[in-house]
Amino acid sequence: MLAKQPLPTKDIRQVSPFILLHHAGPTNHNPDKDRPRLSPHPHRGFEPVTFLFQGKIHHKDSLGNEGFLNAGDVQWMTSGKGIIHSEGPSAEFMEEGGNFELIQLWVNLPRAHKMTDPKYQHLTKDTMPVLTEEGIEMQLVAGNYRGKVGAASTFSPMLAMMVTFEAGAKTFFEVPETYNALLYVLDGEININETTVEKLNMATFDHEGEGIDFEAITQGKLLLLAGEPIQEPLSTYGPFVMNYPAELKQAITDYELGLMGVLED
Ligand code: MN
Repeated sequence: MLAKQPLPTKDIRQVSPFILLHHAGPTNHNPDKDRPRLSPHPHRGFEPVTFLFQGKIHHKDSLGNEGFLNAGDVQWMTSGKGIIHSEGPSAEFMEEGGNFELIQLWVNLPRAHKMTDPKYQHLTKDTMPVLTEEGIEMQLVAGNYRGKVGAASTFSPMLAMMVTFEAGAKTFFEVPETYNALLYVLDGEININETTVEKLNMATFDHEGEGIDFEAITQGKLLLLAGEPIQEPLSTYGPFVMNYPAELKQAITDYELGLMGVLED
């Protein structure tokens, strides 16, 4: 499946604490069309998060977790000192066919938590508060917003919302002034702070004290992410996100020694 990668880009290495954003789909699959699952692979030092917008996913990891996600669900994984996982469209989805669309996000971990024990949070849609205003629906995945508390537990202060909107809808996204923020438009066209953003584009904000003035031009959906930046060195290699190159070498060694666990394909 072709994946779009709004983050990182040539010009933007990160919007700390967010270091990678992939958008896969939307695609339509015919029933019975066989698709390979992602093979098991390791992670260390950050949190891989999957926002499933359409379709069904099957997840397995070296902690023994096995989960099935439906549209609107989110998987918030803490790789910490090491986890091996695999995820892909479920057998049921492949059999039935249908639309598939997800966003994969990598959230950095502060140095103090990079080697924490790995864990897995499966957040079903019905556990996430939904805030509604005229023509706009905000599903609160993480963080506090207007008195509601998101379902995910995180290691640094942040806000994550899956937002759907109708043409003409308006709101003001309140973002704490010390946060970085980004907004990725999966579908539709919007105005933010009087700048037009078309679908499949990302807008970024540094320390957005005033918040984000939002107006929908068409109907659509977006992902809003904001968080306290992590002011620490960043060193990455493949599936590992650490502070220094020597820690990446250690991660490779630890993986090869089997210290991140085992997961059969
Ligand atoms: Mn992964």
